[in-house]
Order: sequence, then structure tokens, then C-alpha cells
Amino acid sequence: MITIKSPREIETMAAAGRIVAETLALVASHVRPGVSTADLDRLAEEFIRSHPGARPSFKGLYDFPATLCTSINQEVVHGIPSPRRVLNEGDLLSVDVGVWLEGLHADSAATFPVGEIRSEANRLLQVTQEALAAGVAQARVGNHVGDIGHAVQQVAEAAGYSVVRELVGHGIGASFHEEPQVPNYGKPRRGPRLVPGMTIAIEPMVNVGGPEIRTLDDKWTVVTQDGSLSAHFEHTVAVLANGGPPRVLTAAG
Ligand code: MG
Ligand code: MG
Repeated sequence: MITIKSPREIETMAAAGRIVAETLALVASHVRPGVSTADLDRLAEEFIRSHPGARPSFKGLYDFPATLCTSINQEVVHGIPSPRRVLNEGDLLSVDVGVWLEGLHADSAATFPVGEIRSEANRLLQVTQEALAAGVAQARVGNHVGDIGHAVQQVAEAAGYSVVRELVGHGIGASFHEEPQVPNYGKPRRGPRLVPGMTIAIEPMVNVGGPEIRTLDDKWTVVTQDGSLSAHFEHTVAVLANGGPPRVLTAAG
């Protein structure tokens, strides 16, 4: 079932989304060679819990053990923070974080360069951000979920990259994962119609190589099958009644 949020609920999700954005900015300011992903996770959890009524969405969700998902290089998503995972110059670090505030969730992700990165990695970051922006721009009344996926896929594939298919964006609200599923591929005018008050997480996962993925023995970490680099950017947005582009609930500032 797709849930429609009231204006008041959307304000609460925007407040959760502000904490999410500030958490990502805090993490970004600590990303450098020599830092472990467990260090970043601790910072993020303390920051989120310093806000009354807020807690990390991920900790305990399907038994995930941490506040952040931290995924390095060929890791696509769902990497588990660890004191043994220390960042190196040239790495790409994808950070995914959710915040629950007063009964509602917000969800966002970004991929950060660690020090100086190669030009291919830089291009991947730019293309994945453009793919997210293109998808977000389609999240307007009258469009369908397929319009979002189509826009994301067009940008990624025009650059010679591929989108992950097994993992998708999602509705979000009182539950972290709600309907509809929001794939990063699709056809215009297909899928559920977008209506005012829908809140969805749009989250392109873009690979330099093929779209295939597999899950490591830790049962969480998803990596590219061919070992190629992957990037992940995500925003939670609210579809507005005025027919314009959506309100981005996890934007900074
Ligand atoms: Mg996320
Ligand atoms: Mg998500």
C-alpha cells in the first residue's frame, strides 16, 4: 500500500531529513586516509542521538548492526562499518544513513572521494549525481514511477555506465521501506502514478562496469560482480500538489 503523508507528517520527515543531511556533512568532513568506517559510524550515531526524539533508522533494521552503511570502491551498498576497514587515498566511500524522528523516517546517501581520486572515479561521482537529479526532477504529479527510473537509467547509460537492478528506491514514512518500489530503470508512463503527499527515496546505484551484483559472506555487503567501481546517491523527496519538482527532504541547509 502506498501511504500519503499529511503536510504535518511531511514537515516531520523534513526535520528528520535535515538531521540526515547534517550527519552526511559531518561524516564527509571526517573522510580522509587513515580513518576507519567504525570511527565514522560512531560519530554519526552520537550526532543523531544528540537530537531529542531522533534515532538511527538502520540500527536493528533487519538486524543491521550499525548507524551507517559504509561501502568502499567495488562495494555497492550495505557495507558494515568496522575498525578494520581503514580508508586509503584514492578510495570511494558510499555512506547511506537514515534517521527516525517522532515516528517517521528519512533516508539519504552520498559517495565521497578519499583524498585524490582517479578521473574515472570522479566522472562516476558526477554521473551518479546527475542521474539522481534527473530522477528527482521527474517526481512530480501526473508522472509515473517509471518516469523516474527511465530518467536515471538514461543518464547512467549515456555515460557508458550501468544501473543496479536488484536493489531499488522505495516509498518511505512510518516504515523505512514502503511501497512503491522505485527502480533505477524503467519506461516512461509505466508503474504507479505519482500523487501529492507521496514520499519516496530515489537512489541510483551506478557501476562503471556491468550491472550484476553479488552479496558477500557477511550476508550484507553487496559488491559488483566484475569488481568495478560503484557509486550511490540518494534523496528522500515529497511529491507536491502544484505539479512542480518535488520537495527534497534530505537537502543540506
Ligand atoms: Mg539509504
Ligand atoms: Mg533508501
